[in-house]
Parts: sequence; structure tokens; C-alpha cells
Amino acid sequence: MTYDIAIIGGGMAGASLALALKDLPLSIVLVEAVPYASTQQPAFDARAIALAAGSQRILRTMGVWDAMAARGVTAIEHIHVSERGGFGTAHMEAAEEGVAALGYVAEGRIIGATLTAALAQCPNVELLCPAELTSLQVEDDGVEVQLVHAGAARRLRTRLLVAADGGRSTVREQIGARTWELGYGQTAVIATVTTDRAHGNTAYERFTDTGPLALLPCDPPVDTDQELSGRRWSLVWTVRDSQVDALLALSDEAFLQRLQQRFGYRAGRFLRSSGRQAYPLVLRFVREAASERVAFIGNAAHAIHPVAGQGFNLGLRDVAALAQVIAAAVARGEDIGRMQVLQGYARWRRPDYLRTAAFTDGLVRAYSNNLPPLKLARNVGLLALDTLPPLKHLLAYQSMGLVGHLPRLACGMKLQVTSDK
Ligand SMILES: Cc1cc2nc3c(=O)[nH]c(=O)nc-3n(C[C@H](O)[C@H](O)[C@H](O)COP(=O)(O)OP(=O)(O)OC[C@H]3O[C@@H](n4cnc5c(N)ncnc54)[C@H](O)[C@@H]3O)c2cc1C
Repeated sequence: MTYDIAIIGGGMAGASLALALKDLPLSIVLVEAVPYASTQQPAFDARAIALAAGSQRILRTMGVWDAMAARGVTAIEHIHVSERGGFGTAHMEAAEEGVAALGYVAEGRIIGATLTAALAQCPNVELLCPAELTSLQVEDDGVEVQLVHAGAARRLRTRLLVAADGGRSTVREQIGARTWELGYGQTAVIATVTTDRAHGNTAYERFTDTGPLALLPCDPPVDTDQELSGRRWSLVWTVRDSQVDALLALSDEAFLQRLQQRFGYRAGRFLRSSGRQAYPLVLRFVREAASERVAFIGNAAHAIHPVAGQGFNLGLRDVAALAQVIAAAVARGEDIGRMQVLQGYARWRRPDYLRTAAFTDGLVRAYSNNLPPLKLARNVGLLALDTLPPLKHLLAYQSMGLVGHLPRLACGMKLQVTSDK
């Protein structure tokens, strides 16, 4: 079987790309290794994802936002930033930035259910699941792909192969794509916690000497316990690798006590915690987001620290940019797998990768040194940020994914089969 595009990996990035391309005259196959209904599905788990305002625009223009919102998302209207043991704080307000929300929080499961339901309505997208890419050969006029589909070997051919197969990308390995990688020596522990006070749509980012700690307001789709309504948070607690096992082994009570000690009482008193999951953290980028007949999107292209909740937002901008480059090539009657076409995508994405990595990595490193003069400088910086509206505005727009050369979908415009970029 021959396709125009084969997307390897049906996680948030891969599924979003298939949807973004649904109105183009292209045959698309989406190859996903793990069934969506499985509890082992790695892409759509209990992680809460902060969707920036720019991502919300992309999802809205793709026609899936209303369905996602109906399944349950929580608006972030205020952001509070502080450092444990420091005096400086900074605040960001949706009203000050002239937006309804600085972002939204959605559980990975909600994002998955919305995207897969929408995919089922796309006649030009064939889903192969469970199907795992095992090897590939890039040839002059296409890519030959070997899969194991429902236990049997299968081959397919495609003009363009998109690697959306996540951090341990087999595509990256198969074509020998060079990457740049740096371990943080940190692991993120996530859990859902409840407090005795309503979240008031506030997100907190608190820097501590072992790593940043984030609390995102996160209401469940259906609240079975009305008493806890509006009091649920998604916790992302970054600790040194050496501390993870001990943190995971704590009883819920001891875990909440430790959390209270590290976070303080700004969000109220912590009452309950769900089970915890751990994610080791790394900074990684492919050197080139495209090569002949292959393009990388999402975590197959980059992995960043979750400190400012930017990973999928960056991946969704990959999706919007690649979809636009493909649409323009289709309009010009060009071969969508040629390097001249894909180079446009790789060059376009590079500044965003650098900017987002500098932003997130810069935050982690700035706060990982406890020398007193540096700590003082950071706290003065936080106070200054609060009193310098232009600087705050710039940071807010970076966090909302609204800076740089934005793709059409991020500007609220549908893909156009024209000859623009
Ligand atoms: C603790 C934590 C908190 C985070 N919080 C945020 C946040 O608030 N906001 C935000 O924007 N981002 C956040 N992120 C980042 C975000 O989770 C990722 O950027 C995003 O999930 C990546 O999606 P993806 O589709 O690129 O990759 P993945 O989710 O890894 O999906 C890859 C898919 O490919 C499939 N696959 C793999 N190999 C093969 C193969 N050989 N054949 C077929 N299929 C294959 C897998 O089964 C999987 O479904 C966070 C990350 C962490 C760790």
C-alpha cells in the first residue's frame, strides 16, 4: 500500500498532525504502537497538560477545541511565581494581557479522547493500531516502512514519513539522526492533590533548591465529589534523581506533609493525594528537524524540562508549521517529501526551539544555584518583573506561545492551499 504521508506515533503530536491535514487531498496513515483503550497507552496518561493560549487557538482552528472543552478543561487566569525561602514574587494576570485565559489545563486522557474521536471522522486518515514501526529505508522517491501490525509483519510505502514517535524515537535511530542531549539529573513526580481552599484558576510555580514545583488547577471532567469541586490540582514536583525513590515510597500522608513543607500554605492545606508517577527529565533536540523524506515533530524532535509546561505546546507549533508547509507544497504541485520543501519546515522551527529551550533551561539553571548573591539577584529580578509591564508582557507572550513567526493555525486562520509558506 502506498500513502502520501505516514505518521509514526499517534500520541498528542502525531494525532494532532493527522487532524490538521484532514482537509488536504492526501492519503495519510497513522501508525500507533499501543491501543488507545489500553491502560499502558504512554501518550495519553494522567499527566495534566497546560495548554498555552496559542495552542488553544491552534486546536480551535483545527475544529477540536469545543469538544475538548466540553470534556473538561480548566482555565488558568492567574500565575504566581515564587522561590522557596525568597522574598520576591511575580504575578501574571489574564486580564492584564487582554486574554480570557493565560492557558488551559487538560488531562492527557481528555486530550487523547478528543483527538481520537475526531480522527475517527477523517476519511483520508487510516489508523493502524496496534502497529509498530520496526525499520525503514529512505529511497529517492519514497520511504519503505516495515511494521508489525496486530502481530503480523506488514510493509507500506510513503512519499513523506513524519516521526512523531516520542522521546525514544525509532525513526531517529533508524535514520541515524544526530541529536544534542543533556541530562538534568532531575525527575518530575506527578500527582493529583486536593486542598481545603478553592484554586480560583491560579497556577503556581515555586522554585526550590531541589528543582521547581508546579501546581496547576485541574478540575476533573465529572466531579463525583462535590465537596472537592474547584479544589483539585495537578502537581509536578521536580526533585533530584537521588530523591525520587524515597518520595515515591512515602505514604500519602507523609507525602502531603513533605509537600506542604516545600510549598507552604499559599494554596491552602493539602488534604489528599492520588498515586504518583515519575518522569526522568532530559533536554534533547534533533540537530535538523527534517532530512530527505523525513520530518520530526513533538518529542521525537525535542524534549524539554516541564518547568513552564511548554513541551506539547512546542510540539503543536511543529504540527501547525509542518501542516502549512505541506499545504503550500501541495498547492504548488511539489513533491511533499523533497528536501527543498522540508527544509522550509526545519528552518522555520529552529528559532522557536532555541527560544523555548533558552526560556525553560534558563529558568532551571538560574534557580539551581544557591549562592546567596545569586538568590538575592533572582528575588530582586522577580520583584522587578512585577513592576516592569513590558518585560512581564514579553514573558507572558512567550509562555502563551504567541511570539515569533506564528503558523496560520496559531493566528486563527485555516490552512490554505496557496503558494505562501
Ligand atoms: C511531568 C511532565 C509534565 C508535562 N507537562 C506539560 C505541560 O503542562 N504542557 C505541555 O505543553 N507539555 C507538557 N509536557 C510535555 C508533553 O507531555 C510532551 O511534550 C508530549 O506528551 C509529547 O507528545 P508526543 O506525541 O510528541 O510524544 P509521545 O507522547 O511520546 O507519543 C509518542 C507515541 O508514539 C508511539 N510510538 C513510539 N514508538 C513507536 C513505533 N516504533 N511505532 C509506532 N508507534 C510508536 C507511542 O506509543 C506513543 O503513543 C510534560 C511532560 C512531563 C514529563
